[in-house]
Amino acid sequence: MVPKALCLHAGIRLFFFKFPLKPGLNKKLASLPRMKKKINIITLGCSKNLFDSEQLAAQLAQQYRVEHESRDAAPYVVINTCGFIHDAKEESINTILEYVEAKKRGQVEKLVVTGCLSQRYMDELKREIPEVDAWFGNHHLKEETAFFGLPFREDLLLDRKMATPAHYAYLKISEGCDRSCSFCAIPAIRGRHVSRPMEEIITEAGRLAAKGVKELILIAQDLTYYGLDIYGKRRLGDLLKKLTKVDGIEWIRLHYMYPTGFPEEVIDIMAEEPKIVNYLDMPLQHIDSEILASMRRGISGEKTKALLQRIRRKLPDAALRTTFIVGYPGETEEKFRKLLDFVSEMQFDRVGAFTYSHEENTAAYTLEDNVPEEVKQERLQRLMDLQYDISLRKNQEKIGRRMKVLIDRYDGEKYLGRTQYDSPEVDNEVIICTDKILTPGKFIEAEITGADAYDLWAKPVRG
Ligand code: SF4
Repeated sequence: MVPKALCLHAGIRLFFFKFPLKPGLNKKLASLPRMKKKINIITLGCSKNLFDSEQLAAQLAQQYRVEHESRDAAPYVVINTCGFIHDAKEESINTILEYVEAKKRGQVEKLVVTGCLSQRYMDELKREIPEVDAWFGNHHLKEETAFFGLPFREDLLLDRKMATPAHYAYLKISEGCDRSCSFCAIPAIRGRHVSRPMEEIITEAGRLAAKGVKELILIAQDLTYYGLDIYGKRRLGDLLKKLTKVDGIEWIRLHYMYPTGFPEEVIDIMAEEPKIVNYLDMPLQHIDSEILASMRRGISGEKTKALLQRIRRKLPDAALRTTFIVGYPGETEEKFRKLLDFVSEMQFDRVGAFTYSHEENTAAYTLEDNVPEEVKQERLQRLMDLQYDISLRKNQEKIGRRMKVLIDRYDGEKYLGRTQYDSPEVDNEVIICTDKILTPGKFIEAEITGADAYDLWAKPVRG
């Protein structure tokens, strides 16, 4: 059954064919937009993958109707996969197989897989899942664009087709990683650290602001390494100072800060620059010095604590987010308790945690994965239970406070937004039930009226 719209189109052409019209009209007809085929881009994994999908979307939008995470059917599907730990790999493979089934049912014409999983396991995947039309690893934008019959356009690199709401955007400042954390496959997957030139980042920030972006979320594998490769020194601080001068940007958020060699001038800049939100994401992975040494993190437990205390002294109001791995080879009950004590002592605002995943082509793969899976899961639960109580208490302390809230969306019943202490997707949401009309992308002042461990309730007081 040919879609109705197409009938209409065909009908119009037929009519004019039968009844010749004024000269030149055919040219007009020829310029009528062709019905653009739809491409649905599914992105798994981290915000760096999302950034890559947005760059690809901009290229494909030259001739296709491109959507991110569309729930509606699309003849062409691109899956941008994640492949750094077991659970992420499993999710990527299940998603591919889901669309292979859709293809067998005739709902998908072309299925393309890209990203970290295919970068890491290209040959095996090609062998195991022949139904996929094309496989690409990371950094194959030109080839992916050519696969869809399009010319690669350099100028579109700074004009991504966003998957995020119009008022916030991830801004990747570098790719890859030069660190050698023993458990991590990312350097082998995404390659060496490559910083983007500062001018290019500033230009892109300006274009994003011109499109209405208010919040820039800086991302990389390791934000602190910025500049060491192309400028011979750490230049995250310099970059931040320039970004704060971009008109229209009101919030700048920092994710993925590495503790070793941490550029402490960044803390002073955060304290001085109101546009840089009071929020700092620093994955620490563990606190026991022997475990940290085995993880090749290049920092001891004592030095980690000292750094956090300096940060807390200079930024007493900052929300600290971190990530831990539990069940790493050699993690005894005593070493795990040290981690629990550390979390109790530091009172982080946000904690994410993973169980150790024994990954080939990593240095830790030579170690015995000697913590049983059930013990890993039990430790994960104990750590998150401890953090639950901390998050709940910290959120309850916010009740009665007035805060600036960025409205993210309206879900038909209530508005959802975030304070400067909350990053999209991973932190608290502020829930606002009001008769007032609020506008996504706008800031309001709100009074916090309620809290649970992971969300806040509020009422608008101004804006
Ligand atoms: S900093 Fe360490 S954990 Fe992060 S991507 Fe690099 S090697 Fe992996």
